[in-house]
Amino acid sequence: MPERDIERQRAHVFAGRDGLVFLFPLGEQAAWRLLATRAAAAECGRNFGQPGPAVPQAELQRLLSDAGTPARIERLAWSARVPLRCGLARRFRQGRLFLAGDAAHNYAPATGQGMNAGIQDAVNLGWKLGLAAGHAEGEPADDVLLDSYDQERRPAAHHRIVLTHMAFWAEASTGRIPSWLRGVAAPRAAPAVPALLDRRRLVADAIRLISQLRVNYRHSPLSVQGTPRLRGAPRPGDRLPDAAVSLGGAPRRLHQLLAGPGVHLLLQCDAAPPPPQAVTSSHVTVLRLANSPGRGLVAVRPDGHVGFQCGTADPAGLTDWLALIGAASHPVRV
Ligand SMILES: Cc1cc2nc3c(=O)[nH]c(=O)nc-3n(C[C@H](O)[C@H](O)[C@H](O)COP(=O)(O)OP(=O)(O)OC[C@H]3O[C@@H](n4cnc5c(N)ncnc54)[C@H](O)[C@@H]3O)c2cc1C
Repeated sequence: MPERDIERQRAHVFAGRDGLVFLFPLGEQAAWRLLATRAAAAECGRNFGQPGPAVPQAELQRLLSDAGTPARIERLAWSARVPLRCGLARRFRQGRLFLAGDAAHNYAPATGQGMNAGIQDAVNLGWKLGLAAGHAEGEPADDVLLDSYDQERRPAAHHRIVLTHMAFWAEASTGRIPSWLRGVAAPRAAPAVPALLDRRRLVADAIRLISQLRVNYRHSPLSVQGTPRLRGAPRPGDRLPDAAVSLGGAPRRLHQLLAGPGVHLLLQCDAAPPPPQAVTSSHVTVLRLANSPGRGLVAVRPDGHVGFQCGTADPAGLTDWLALIGAASHPVRV
């Protein structure tokens, strides 16, 4: 693949009027991988998301030359046109049928969202199916729990479609404005990029957005605020960030403690003991955080999102929440 005057060990992106061209030094059977998005050609086919016909070397070379790079393709190991489409299923659940991953949503590849979205779908659905499978069929809790998959993941997918549409429009649209942005504005703004990349907070926020760590389920029926609110803690529906915590001994990573299955109840050090429905449930692990002063608690779902939180003991609220997700009704593990 391309060599001359292209610095190895770095990814390169070339902004041109026809779209972006990416060069990644991480090819598996070749030194470089080239990725470009262009308007659909008839020979692409309709097998969306799957590799289609090969791209002639001359056409790939033209992409590089038009982008203004001096690189020459010496050997072409593999190439394919991949037809793309965007779409969102009207429902992610119908009865016992659930859609996840690309079957539920397709995005433009800009910002690389598809795979992580599918994995988050699976994580969101997996624990709900696990809890629902332990109930008698038709228990009312099941429908609230299983319907929440659509209620949580479909809006998240919709937000991602908006994000990827905007990024794809800027990256690949041949309209006047995006062409100007790539052909004129981007080269002028390029010298400012290293300074922007030095701003850790900005970069961290962008990475959180793109890697979908900012997805929250605040509007889900499974997100319940107890009373009073625990100030300074994530809200119900938010993903719980990692932190150094102590259970009395050496500091531990919170996410390591939460990696076990089931719901985790995090009690601040002076919190009242949780109600028996929580303590005796085989789905609940109680952790008292010695380094967190206060009387509040946070209930963390198996997918790492907060389900319930309160600033002092709210046993009725917690018991109702555990019943809502079907985690309170199981016998003691012996
Ligand atoms: C060019 C391109 C670049 C991308 N870049 C990124 C990126 O940088 N980051 C990112 O996160 N995502 C990216 N994606 C998206 C990502 O590849 C997909 O979102 C992800 O692979 C979807 O996984 P999936 O398991 O839902 O579907 P698929 O990967 O399509 O898997 C479905 C599987 O089911 C099989 N199957 C279909 N029908 C049947 C049947 N009837 N019986 C049995 N098996 C069947 C198929 O053969 C296939 O193996 C990109 C996609 C493209 C096209």
